[in-house]
Amino acid sequence: MIMSKANIRFRILNNQNKLVTINATLGEDKRLYRCGTPIYCNCHDSPTPYLFIDGEVYCPCCGKKSLSVETFTETLSNIHLTYFGTDYNTMQDLYKLSDTLPYTTWNLVADYFVKLTPAEVDLGYSVGYVGWVTSNPEKVEEVLNVRDELKVCNQEITKDDIMETGNQLSEVEIFDIVDRLHEVFSVVETPYGEFQLYTGDVGDDYIVSNPLFPPNPHIGNGECWYVKHTTNEIWYIRYNYRDGDDLRMNNVLIDFELKAIGKVIAYDEDVEKLIMKLKEK
Ligand SMILES: [Zn+2]
Repeated sequence: MIMSKANIRFRILNNQNKLVTINATLGEDKRLYRCGTPIYCNCHDSPTPYLFIDGEVYCPCCGKKSLSVETFTETLSNIHLTYFGTDYNTMQDLYKLSDTLPYTTWNLVADYFVKLTPAEVDLGYSVGYVGWVTSNPEKVEEVLNVRDELKVCNQEITKDDIMETGNQLSEVEIFDIVDRLHEVFSVVETPYGEFQLYTGDVGDDYIVSNPLFPPNPHIGNGECWYVKHTTNEIWYIRYNYRDGDDLRMNNVLIDFELKAIGKVIAYDEDVEKLIMKLKEK
């Protein structure tokens, strides 16, 4: 079955005459699918798949029609969960969404998420991330009708890849390095002003992402370190323009917009060595 990229959510009366909301992916055959299986109307003994034609969902057998239909955007049809970390208090794997959801969609899954604050969970490393995470990815994927190839169960290899990428650092070592780097900058004041930093490498200057929390320009979070030999500085940069972030804290211009909080120290060889360890691959 070839899937088109359109995701559809429709409201329809079920067999008990109850109004239900169904999320579906539209197949090229105009049928609606959920997790690779057509969605059926049970009006007759043999189930009939719903069709989507002329902006409406209907059953070709009994003629039952949807009461409302919403077509999702491209972003939403690519929505998925990404592994965030394991809470060592509960040994639960935590996942966050790859993108922000429209309000009405968010309401469908909000119950499966908790607001993560660094103080509440023990991830084995400290992050400045405060946001929504879920320990029930299967349920969220079902409700959001996440495409099969983007599902967490098909991402497991990627998750291991992140932790064991060629740099030969163990997970514990990465946690340790990130922790030490956080410590270095935790005692540094955030300088006031607007600092323009180029996000590409210039000369000997380079940027290294935190492998545990890499910058995600689409979501507006993540962090990196910027070794600037040209000015003898090392910066710690945390993206801070997610929905709900306090943008007034931002002092770093990225793409001509204040999108991140940056702290700077004078160049330090030991700090660079730590950053280099995260860079080597
Ligand atoms: Zn029917």
